[in-house]
Amino acid sequence: MSHKQGFRWISLRTRLAIYSRDDWRCLACGRKVTWRKGRGKWTDHRPTAASLDHVTPRCVGGSNAPSNLITLCVGCNSARADVPIGAWRPELLDTVAIAVSTPIDRAMGRALADELDPAFGERMRAKDRGARRRARSTPPPSTQRGCAVLNGL
Ligand SMILES: [Zn+2]
Repeated sequence: MSHKQGFRWISLRTRLAIYSRDDWRCLACGRKVTWRKGRGKWTDHRPTAASLDHVTPRCVGGSNAPSNLITLCVGCNSARADVPIGAWRPELLDTVAIAVSTPIDRAMGRALADELDPAFGERMRAKDRGARRRARSTPPPSTQRGCAVLNGL
């Protein structure tokens, strides 16, 4: 569970894009969730705080890709622990399948992250400037096809 307690394993913008994809609702209980910065850190343990849950748990090889992540409130996330969804709440399987097959809106995630954390926005702009420089100076990687498989999920 400890990997789920922090927030650094996924970028803020991807996290927020997944919450947006799931309409800021817990997929299990349906209540509205929110995400905020507390005590100087991005940790929020209120029962109605948004959290990301791995559909296939990390411990059995599940990835950190949006196609393996759903929005749960902290309360439902703790209740599920690492039990497979089919064993925990089989009636959720369809909802989960639809959520994880919906592409995330990265631009929206980024806008939300920028709004919540101006310092994050500044870091991302600096990173983009670096990426643009690299894009001009290096040919596209030959592993591009491998990436497409992941992005197509
Ligand atoms: Zn819930």
